[in-house]
Amino acid sequence: MRLPWQLILCIIGSAAMAQDDTQSIVVTNVHLFDGVNDARLENANVLIDGHLISQISTDPIEAEGATIIDGQGGTLMPGLVDNHVHLSMVTVTVPDLLFGEPTYPLVRAVRDAEEMLLRGVTTGRDMGGNIFGLKQAIDENIVPGPRIYPSGRFLSQTSGHFDFRTKTDTHRAFSNIEPTTDRLGWVFMVDGVPQILAAARENLRLGASQIKIAAGGGYASPTDPLFSTQFTFEEMKAAANAATDFGTYVTMHAYTPAAVNRAIDAGIKDVGHGQLLDRETLERMAAEGVHLSTQPFTVCNEPQLDEFSNEKLNTVCQGTANMYQIVSELPDLNVTWGTDLFNVPDASDQVEQLERLLDFFEPVEILKQATGNATSLLAMSGDKNPYPDGPIGRIVEGAYADLLIVEGNPLEDLSAVTDANNIKLIMKNGEVYKDTLN
Ligand SMILES: [Zn+2]
Repeated sequence: MRLPWQLILCIIGSAAMAQDDTQSIVVTNVHLFDGVNDARLENANVLIDGHLISQISTDPIEAEGATIIDGQGGTLMPGLVDNHVHLSMVTVTVPDLLFGEPTYPLVRAVRDAEEMLLRGVTTGRDMGGNIFGLKQAIDENIVPGPRIYPSGRFLSQTSGHFDFRTKTDTHRAFSNIEPTTDRLGWVFMVDGVPQILAAARENLRLGASQIKIAAGGGYASPTDPLFSTQFTFEEMKAAANAATDFGTYVTMHAYTPAAVNRAIDAGIKDVGHGQLLDRETLERMAAEGVHLSTQPFTVCNEPQLDEFSNEKLNTVCQGTANMYQIVSELPDLNVTWGTDLFNVPDASDQVEQLERLLDFFEPVEILKQATGNATSLLAMSGDKNPYPDGPIGRIVEGAYADLLIVEGNPLEDLSAVTDANNIKLIMKNGEVYKDTLN
């Protein structure tokens, strides 16, 4: 059977418009953590019109025809934002990614995305990978998953953090062999300003909300020293210019002061790791408004890594406590939470990882890192923000209706969020994905 074009366009249109913008929901009987303030707003009511929060009040809210959700005295809070995900490669192994059946990683990613949303993570900033198709399907409500701020492909220099070629894969400048990671759409392995510009602009053309570069060594990568600095100042500057010209920003993989300071000099606004940073660099970031999007790497050995990688991981891991200690003394530094889960056999501890931060921060500060602190980071995508209707990470009038209702008070006991059984309701874009309140 052949469908007429009008009908095909109509089907595509209805999928994209699956959200019913005429429905209203009133949530009653909740205490509200807005992602910013230290204290909850007690006995609150929240009106959601379509996909946005339209009213918050301690007085009863009348809305004709609205669905009522009784929050049963729980805490209503923003959906979690994991600011460092790789949704296209969470649980798939590197061999399956590089040498396996090409469609297999995507199937796993569909499952991983649903599980992530059902942990209460309603937004993920995707820090590199082949992600645009999954993002489109989630946004069209074809499959459940978090909102995705996509970086598109990683930008890596030759022998940099995302150069995963085998030794028999001669560089394409000296052969006709394209890196497998490039051919499959995961990476742009690029050297020199013209190639950087082309790669950054290609990502932007495809819908990237920010550009991700590797500015220094990493632990999982096979050939780069951990303390290497990657990309010259001119190359970093070119990436920053390409992003800024399109109204967005560059984020980076970097651990060390050398890499981070060069990147800040070049106009890069977000540090994607930072575990080996010194006080001077962290103070500079606070003073210059550079964001720190970091992760509590406290597992210092991973069985799926080889000895070279585990040695590097151990060094990064040792730096984690030192960095968080300094960060806890810098109130002006905007710090966000992330996990960087990729190539892991099991991602179910994603939200539990928040508890690792209890050595350094009060629960309220940890929750801010996973909610309200992300708002300004995500807003830096500017003209390339895929979700421009309102803020994300906060419960305020005009914000996206991405929220959780949890049993208990997470500002006093983090397990109200980190134990999934305590998350009674998960809403994204005004739609309920989990509801065990009734
Ligand atoms: Zn990463």
